[in-house]
Amino acid sequence: MSDYDVIVIGGGPAGATVSTLLAQRGVRVALYERERFPRFHIGESLIPETYWVLQRLNMLPKMKASPFVKKYSVQFVNASGRLSAPFYFHDNKPHECSQTWQVVRSEFDQMMLENAREHGVEAHEGVHVLEVLFDGNRAVGVRIRDGSGERREVRAKVVVDASGQAALLQNRFRLRVWDPVLNKGAIWTYWENAYRDTGRDEGATLVIQTPNKKGWWWYIPQHDDVVSVGVVAPFDYLFSPAKVRNGHEQTYQEEVERCEAVKARISGAERVAGYFATRDYSYRSTAVAGDGWVLVGDAFGFLDPLYSSGVLLALRSGEMAADAIVEGLASGDTSAAQLGKWGAGFNEGVDRMRRLVCEFYAGFSFGAFVRQYPELRGSVTDLLIGDLFTDRVDRVWPAMESLRDANRPPIPAWRDGTSAEVDLARAPELTLPDGHRP
Ligand SMILES: Cc1cc2nc3c(=O)[nH]c(=O)nc-3n(C[C@H](O)[C@H](O)[C@H](O)COP(=O)(O)OP(=O)(O)OC[C@H]3O[C@@H](n4cnc5c(N)ncnc54)[C@H](O)[C@@H]3O)c2cc1C
Repeated sequence: MSDYDVIVIGGGPAGATVSTLLAQRGVRVALYERERFPRFHIGESLIPETYWVLQRLNMLPKMKASPFVKKYSVQFVNASGRLSAPFYFHDNKPHECSQTWQVVRSEFDQMMLENAREHGVEAHEGVHVLEVLFDGNRAVGVRIRDGSGERREVRAKVVVDASGQAALLQNRFRLRVWDPVLNKGAIWTYWENAYRDTGRDEGATLVIQTPNKKGWWWYIPQHDDVVSVGVVAPFDYLFSPAKVRNGHEQTYQEEVERCEAVKARISGAERVAGYFATRDYSYRSTAVAGDGWVLVGDAFGFLDPLYSSGVLLALRSGEMAADAIVEGLASGDTSAAQLGKWGAGFNEGVDRMRRLVCEFYAGFSFGAFVRQYPELRGSVTDLLIGDLFTDRVDRVWPAMESLRDANRPPIPAWRDGTSAEVDLARAPELTLPDGHRP
């Protein structure tokens, strides 16, 4: 006998999405989140295609009423400091969906979880899921530990793993494949009174290539005059033993010194947080579902944040999984095939974004591309807004290939990565500085 139809592990954007969409259709859902919200999380820049899922979640009025900075474009600065023209989403798609937001995740995630509750989700904070329970190959529930330390079992017809990078089921079944190319790390902090553009450029994300071309900076203007500024570079470069000994602050400051485009923008600004560090190592799962279980968001896969696609992928996988679960519960089929029927199409979409990311690390320049192929500006912008689940955008690839150095080896597929454990101890999942904010 089940206590619920569905149990969701984790209350981040993926968990909040899948649970809300299920509850909207009358499914009995319990969600367990180990933290108490608001809690810090990285992943602050949304992309326009989140609009359609936020609309289904009834989140748009809340987003419009929020203090989050409106984002209309993304702009690139190349290694020699040259600024591309902004890629305005609205010019490509004249619809209100082309304006998105720069969020503070502690606030956004709390809004999403509250919204889930308003739709009937029984969401519990401070409750740790210790393990998923199985009857043979079939997931039948979870074992939890609540805030008072009490442990108990809860049963459901379907278990959704939305536990983020903790990736409970991926670890249990050893499903993780580490990306052979996208093995990065990140260090970041927050600045007040840093440079901000004006008008519709105020909320633009800037992607600034480092002068040595090893990595890039994100520059994300947020509300209350705060800018999130972080550097992403190969894991072994950013977290070499010598650099780790010297501390993240020194590494960050050395990179600032090297990069005039960042240095100029934060000169005169006040740092209002310590230095955060995390691994930024992409991975994917070889399966999206099993009998009675399904993976969504980072619990399924994580892709390098170059184009800010993480929350979109969390929302879209949550949406696709919810639709498959509703259908499966109605027909009494909660097999791997039914719960994971969206997996192949989703993987194709992630592959498109991954290809764009890998091209950037291999030297692709947006500015040079649109100068040579102005007729493809719209298709590249479609990719940047996250319109990934259509082959319409595939017309950009032959043109991109034509600009590549003929001797450059092809980009390895994600499946060519290793499933062996990778030593990431030099940068744990997340290092929070003392007195961190926002
Ligand atoms: C450096 C960096 C920069 C990024 N920048 C961006 C960006 O600009 N834009 C963007 O869209 N994305 C960005 N991302 C990606 C983004 O952070 C993630 O893709 C997104 O948060 C995934 O959402 P999720 O719901 O799957 O997981 P999460 O948001 O991680 O939520 C998972 C939740 O599960 C809970 N949990 C874990 N284990 C358990 C357990 N055992 N029991 C109960 N609860 C549990 C956790 O506490 C957490 O709240 C970035 C990521 C990194 C590393």
